[in-house]
Amino acid sequence: MGGGPSGLMAAMIASWNGAEVRIVERKGKLGKKLLAATNGRGNFSNLELNETHYFTSDISFVKKVLERFGIFQTLSVFEEIGVLVKNSDSKLFPYTERSKDIWTCFMHELENNNVEIVLNYQINDITYSKENKIFYLKSDYTTFESEKIIVATGGMSSPQFGSNGSIFQSLCTLGHSLIGLRPGLVPLKINDDYLSKDNLGAKLIGTVVLENAQGIEISKKYFGEVLFKNETITGIPIIQISNFVHRYLDKKIPVYIHIDPFPTYTQTQLEEILLKKINLRPKKPIYLLFTSMIDEKLIPPFLNSIGIEDFLMSSEALELRDIELIANRLKYWKFEVIDCC
Ligand SMILES: Cc1cc2nc3c(=O)[nH]c(=O)nc-3n(C[C@H](O)[C@H](O)[C@H](O)COP(=O)(O)OP(=O)(O)OC[C@H]3O[C@@H](n4cnc5c(N)ncnc54)[C@H](O)[C@@H]3O)c2cc1C
Repeated sequence: MGGGPSGLMAAMIASWNGAEVRIVERKGKLGKKLLAATNGRGNFSNLELNETHYFTSDISFVKKVLERFGIFQTLSVFEEIGVLVKNSDSKLFPYTERSKDIWTCFMHELENNNVEIVLNYQINDITYSKENKIFYLKSDYTTFESEKIIVATGGMSSPQFGSNGSIFQSLCTLGHSLIGLRPGLVPLKINDDYLSKDNLGAKLIGTVVLENAQGIEISKKYFGEVLFKNETITGIPIIQISNFVHRYLDKKIPVYIHIDPFPTYTQTQLEEILLKKINLRPKKPIYLLFTSMIDEKLIPPFLNSIGIEDFLMSSEALELRDIELIANRLKYWKFEVIDCC
């Protein structure tokens, strides 16, 4: 059940092992999320695949799974089906960086191994007959029968690609338990008095970490591009950090994103840079002082956040303590996180 990457892989390997396989998929196409991965570039795995990158209370379970089927087994399957792999900073892509090419290799393999594909059928209910040793999978139109089933119906994120949690209730009836479903790897909604629609699409590149109200770091630190959208921030480091957020927000503990776009500079070095710029062009309007340091769309909210409203005033009007404050804030962009998107 389910024709996402897990279902496709399971179907393919089961067919290689001699099973007669049918994939039942609720959407009109297989592998919709696979096609969307990395904006269609298909970053399908990572050379550093290991249990430390998983968010779970039972790390030994992940370890056991990866010992049985880890990165080497994954790579050998991809080689077997004809995908030429590119390694980009440990991230693995098809050489062409097109998800579609992985999809095509999967489709050929399924066809070649006579896997039956049934599209546009959503399974709503599963029952099991102990007597006949058969599972019955009911959809709106028909009931499928099978001796064994693999449930690969995904979670509930991005339902436009198919995974909508439609089978979870029935699985509970069969005796499985459902742990709380929470968003993971998602953009974050922020509360900020100074950002507006004018800042749409602005970006900061730097280190990102989650902090509590006391300024103590409560997540791993990530590096990358942070994109500002309408009241939300996204980008790879934000998406990674989103995994830490819900456990605090669930308990109503306030959390903050701290972005440092200048991780290789100390505050003192930034003060020196600003002073040098001011000495070179004392009459330059203050908003131009930050050109090439931060995204120009972020200069007005940055100045507002430190209490400067006259963007045209000459840079030379800044006092030493203003420069200290500016350098401090340049390294310390802080946003309250109010929700996961
Ligand atoms: C925009 C986007 C980009 C991503 N980029 C990456 C990336 O670059 N690298 C990466 O590793 N991961 C990426 N991911 C995550 C990755 O796509 C998922 O981890 C992966 O698709 C999960 O695979 P799955 O087969 O378990 O579930 P899914 O891909 O969700 O597949 C589940 C399938 O089951 C079907 N289904 C659900 N319920 C039923 C039912 N009742 N009856 C029949 N069929 C049903 C669904 O229609 C769906 O086709 C991305 C996800 C998104 C949304």
